[in-house]
Amino acid sequence: MLDWLFRPQCAACGDPQAPLCIGCVGSLVELGPACPLCAQPTGEREVVCRRCATHPLPLDRIVTPWRFGGELASAIRRLKFTGATHVARTLAPLWAPIIAALVADSESAIVVPVPLHWKRRFKRGYDHTWLLAIHACAHAKVAPPRPLLRRVRGSPPQSTLRASERWANVRGAFELRRGTDVKDHTVILVDDVVTTGATLAAAAMPLRRAGAQTIVGVALARAD
Ligand SMILES: [Zn+2]
Ligand SMILES: [Zn+2]
Repeated sequence: MLDWLFRPQCAACGDPQAPLCIGCVGSLVELGPACPLCAQPTGEREVVCRRCATHPLPLDRIVTPWRFGGELASAIRRLKFTGATHVARTLAPLWAPIIAALVADSESAIVVPVPLHWKRRFKRGYDHTWLLAIHACAHAKVAPPRPLLRRVRGSPPQSTLRASERWANVRGAFELRRGTDVKDHTVILVDDVVTTGATLAAAAMPLRRAGAQTIVGVALARAD
Protein backbone atom coordinates (compact mmCIF):
# COMPACT_ATOMS: atom_id res chain seq x y z
CA MET A 1 0.00 0.00 0.00
CA LEU A 2 2.69 2.47 1.03
CA ASP A 3 4.75 1.50 -1.98
CA TRP A 4 1.85 2.28 -4.18
CA LEU A 5 1.20 5.62 -2.47
CA PHE A 6 4.76 6.83 -2.70
CA ARG A 7 5.72 5.42 -6.03
CA PRO A 8 7.26 8.29 -7.95
CA GLN A 9 5.25 9.39 -10.94
CA CYS A 10 5.99 11.67 -13.81
CA ALA A 11 4.68 15.03 -12.60
CA ALA A 12 3.02 15.87 -15.84
CA CYS A 13 1.40 12.76 -17.22
CA GLY A 14 1.37 10.38 -14.27
CA ASP A 15 3.64 7.92 -16.01
CA PRO A 16 5.25 5.88 -13.20
CA GLN A 17 8.76 6.90 -14.25
CA ALA A 18 10.67 9.52 -12.33
CA PRO A 19 11.22 12.41 -12.28
CA LEU A 20 9.71 13.57 -15.60
CA CYS A 21 9.16 10.99 -18.32
CA ILE A 22 11.00 11.41 -21.60
CA GLY A 23 7.89 12.55 -23.41
CA CYS A 24 7.26 15.32 -20.91
CA VAL A 25 10.88 16.50 -20.85
CA GLY A 26 10.67 16.65 -24.64
CA SER A 27 7.72 19.05 -24.43
CA LEU A 28 9.62 21.64 -22.34
CA VAL A 29 10.22 24.88 -24.21
CA GLU A 30 13.03 27.16 -23.07
CA LEU A 31 12.19 30.82 -22.65
CA GLY A 32 14.61 31.97 -25.36
CA PRO A 33 15.59 35.62 -25.96
CA ALA A 34 13.73 37.82 -23.50
CA CYS A 35 13.82 41.19 -21.77
CA PRO A 36 16.62 40.91 -19.18
CA LEU A 37 14.48 42.87 -16.70
CA CYS A 38 11.01 41.29 -16.91
CA ALA A 39 11.56 38.07 -18.93
CA GLN A 40 9.07 39.02 -21.62
CA PRO A 41 10.06 37.20 -24.81
CA THR A 42 11.54 39.65 -27.32
CA GLY A 43 11.83 37.58 -30.47
CA GLU A 44 15.21 37.34 -32.12
CA ARG A 45 17.50 39.05 -29.64
CA GLU A 46 17.61 39.91 -26.00
CA VAL A 47 16.66 43.60 -25.51
CA VAL A 48 15.04 45.64 -22.75
CA CYS A 49 11.33 45.72 -23.61
CA ARG A 50 9.44 48.96 -24.15
CA ARG A 51 7.54 48.69 -20.88
CA CYS A 52 10.71 48.27 -18.81
CA ALA A 53 12.34 51.18 -20.66
CA THR A 54 9.51 53.52 -19.66
CA HIS A 55 8.00 51.94 -16.51
CA PRO A 56 10.63 49.80 -14.80
CA LEU A 57 9.35 47.17 -12.37
CA PRO A 58 10.03 47.71 -8.64
CA LEU A 59 12.31 44.69 -8.64
CA ASP A 60 15.73 44.30 -10.18
CA ARG A 61 14.81 41.57 -12.62
CA ILE A 62 12.71 38.49 -13.27
CA VAL A 63 14.25 35.19 -14.29
CA THR A 64 12.38 32.19 -15.59
CA PRO A 65 13.70 29.16 -17.47
CA TRP A 66 10.64 27.83 -19.32
CA ARG A 67 7.60 28.79 -21.33
CA PHE A 68 4.31 27.86 -19.70
CA GLY A 69 2.85 25.22 -21.96
CA GLY A 70 2.81 21.56 -22.88
CA GLU A 71 3.28 19.04 -20.11
CA LEU A 72 4.83 21.61 -17.74
CA ALA A 73 1.55 23.53 -17.79
CA SER A 74 -0.44 20.39 -17.05
CA ALA A 75 1.95 19.52 -14.21
CA ILE A 76 1.50 22.96 -12.63
CA ARG A 77 -2.28 22.67 -13.03
CA ARG A 78 -2.28 19.25 -11.39
CA LEU A 79 -0.28 20.68 -8.50
CA LYS A 80 -2.61 23.66 -8.09
CA PHE A 81 -6.00 22.15 -8.68
CA THR A 82 -5.95 18.39 -8.06
CA GLY A 83 -4.02 18.04 -4.82
CA ALA A 84 -1.05 16.40 -6.59
CA THR A 85 1.44 17.85 -4.10
CA HIS A 86 4.21 15.40 -5.11
CA VAL A 87 4.51 17.38 -8.35
CA ALA A 88 6.31 20.19 -6.48
CA ARG A 89 9.22 17.85 -5.78
CA THR A 90 9.33 16.44 -9.28
CA LEU A 91 9.55 19.92 -10.80
CA ALA A 92 12.34 21.09 -8.46
CA PRO A 93 15.24 20.16 -10.79
CA LEU A 94 13.73 22.34 -13.52
CA TRP A 95 14.53 25.58 -11.68
CA ALA A 96 16.72 24.74 -8.68
CA PRO A 97 19.92 25.64 -10.62
CA ILE A 98 18.68 29.23 -11.02
CA ILE A 99 17.96 29.53 -7.30
CA ALA A 100 21.30 27.96 -6.40
CA ALA A 101 23.16 30.42 -8.65
CA LEU A 102 21.32 33.46 -7.26
CA VAL A 103 21.95 32.40 -3.66
CA ALA A 104 25.63 31.74 -4.44
CA ASP A 105 25.87 35.27 -5.88
CA SER A 106 24.98 37.01 -2.63
CA GLU A 107 26.04 36.68 0.98
CA SER A 108 22.64 37.69 2.29
CA ALA A 109 20.15 35.99 0.00
CA ILE A 110 16.74 34.97 1.34
CA VAL A 111 14.24 32.95 -0.68
CA VAL A 112 10.71 34.29 -0.16
CA PRO A 113 7.71 32.68 -1.88
CA VAL A 114 4.78 34.80 -3.06
CA PRO A 115 2.00 33.66 -0.70
CA LEU A 116 -1.61 32.80 -1.39
CA HIS A 117 -4.27 34.59 0.61
CA TRP A 118 -5.01 32.47 3.70
CA LYS A 119 -8.57 31.82 2.57
CA ARG A 120 -7.42 30.30 -0.68
CA ARG A 121 -4.72 28.30 1.07
CA PHE A 122 -7.35 27.05 3.52
CA LYS A 123 -9.66 25.98 0.70
CA ARG A 124 -6.89 24.23 -1.22
CA GLY A 125 -5.26 22.77 1.87
CA TYR A 126 -1.77 23.92 0.88
CA ASP A 127 0.05 26.75 -0.82
CA HIS A 128 1.44 25.29 -4.06
CA THR A 129 4.06 28.02 -4.49
CA TRP A 130 5.33 27.34 -0.98
CA LEU A 131 5.69 23.63 -1.84
CA LEU A 132 7.45 24.45 -5.11
CA ALA A 133 9.86 26.73 -3.23
CA ILE A 134 10.58 24.22 -0.45
CA HIS A 135 11.52 21.50 -2.92
CA ALA A 136 13.46 23.83 -5.22
CA CYS A 137 15.54 25.07 -2.24
CA ALA A 138 16.13 21.53 -1.00
CA HIS A 139 17.21 20.44 -4.46
CA ALA A 140 19.44 23.52 -4.77
CA LYS A 141 20.94 22.72 -1.33
CA VAL A 142 20.24 26.24 -0.04
CA ALA A 143 18.46 27.42 3.13
CA PRO A 144 14.69 26.75 3.07
CA PRO A 145 12.32 29.52 1.98
CA ARG A 146 11.01 31.99 4.54
CA PRO A 147 7.38 33.08 4.84
CA LEU A 148 8.08 36.80 5.17
CA LEU A 149 5.14 38.07 3.12
CA ARG A 150 1.44 38.06 3.85
CA ARG A 151 -1.28 38.48 1.28
CA VAL A 152 -3.59 40.95 2.98
CA ARG A 153 -6.18 41.21 0.25
CA GLY A 154 -7.95 38.33 -1.41
CA SER A 155 -8.28 39.01 -5.13
CA PRO A 156 -9.45 37.03 -8.15
CA PRO A 157 -6.74 34.77 -9.63
CA GLN A 158 -4.59 36.74 -12.09
CA SER A 159 -5.14 34.06 -14.72
CA THR A 160 -8.82 35.07 -14.94
CA LEU A 161 -8.02 38.70 -15.77
CA ARG A 162 -6.85 40.67 -18.78
CA ALA A 163 -3.32 42.08 -18.66
CA SER A 164 -4.60 45.61 -18.09
CA GLU A 165 -6.62 44.51 -15.04
CA ARG A 166 -3.83 42.54 -13.39
CA TRP A 167 -1.92 45.52 -12.01
CA ALA A 168 -4.88 47.00 -10.15
CA ASN A 169 -5.93 43.54 -8.94
CA VAL A 170 -2.77 42.96 -6.89
CA ARG A 171 -1.73 46.50 -5.99
CA GLY A 172 -1.25 46.70 -2.22
CA ALA A 173 -2.07 43.00 -1.85
CA PHE A 174 1.10 42.12 0.10
CA GLU A 175 2.60 43.14 3.43
CA LEU A 176 5.74 42.20 5.24
CA ARG A 177 5.19 40.15 8.40
CA ARG A 178 5.85 42.14 11.53
CA GLY A 179 9.39 41.85 12.88
CA THR A 180 10.83 40.88 9.50
CA ASP A 181 14.24 42.31 8.64
CA VAL A 182 15.19 42.37 4.98
CA LYS A 183 17.30 45.53 5.07
CA ASP A 184 20.35 45.19 2.79
CA HIS A 185 19.42 41.60 1.93
CA THR A 186 19.04 40.08 -1.50
CA VAL A 187 15.52 38.69 -1.73
CA ILE A 188 14.76 35.94 -4.21
CA LEU A 189 11.04 36.26 -4.70
CA VAL A 190 9.61 32.98 -5.95
CA ASP A 191 6.34 32.38 -7.80
CA ASP A 192 4.98 29.52 -9.90
CA VAL A 193 4.15 31.32 -13.13
CA VAL A 194 4.87 34.88 -14.26
CA THR A 195 2.87 36.68 -16.92
CA THR A 196 2.88 40.49 -16.75
CA GLY A 197 5.06 40.57 -13.63
CA ALA A 198 2.28 42.38 -11.76
CA THR A 199 2.14 39.91 -8.86
CA LEU A 200 5.91 39.85 -8.39
CA ALA A 201 5.95 43.65 -8.57
CA ALA A 202 3.23 43.95 -5.93
CA ALA A 203 5.05 41.47 -3.68
CA ALA A 204 8.31 43.37 -4.17
CA MET A 205 6.89 46.70 -2.99
CA PRO A 206 6.89 46.03 0.79
CA LEU A 207 10.34 44.40 0.50
CA ARG A 208 11.65 47.47 -1.30
CA ARG A 209 10.13 49.79 1.30
CA ALA A 210 11.79 47.75 4.06
CA GLY A 211 15.20 48.29 2.48
CA ALA A 212 15.88 45.09 0.55
CA GLN A 213 18.98 45.75 -1.49
CA THR A 214 18.29 43.52 -4.47
CA ILE A 215 15.03 41.77 -5.38
CA VAL A 216 15.07 39.10 -8.07
CA GLY A 217 11.82 37.43 -9.11
CA VAL A 218 12.08 33.78 -10.10
CA ALA A 219 9.21 31.87 -11.69
CA LEU A 220 9.13 28.30 -12.91
CA ALA A 221 7.52 29.33 -16.20
CA ARG A 222 6.37 32.32 -18.18
CA ALA A 223 2.87 32.43 -19.61
CA ASP A 224 1.68 34.82 -22.32
ZN1 LIG B 1 5.24 12.37 -18.37
ZN1 LIG C 1 10.83 44.10 -19.77
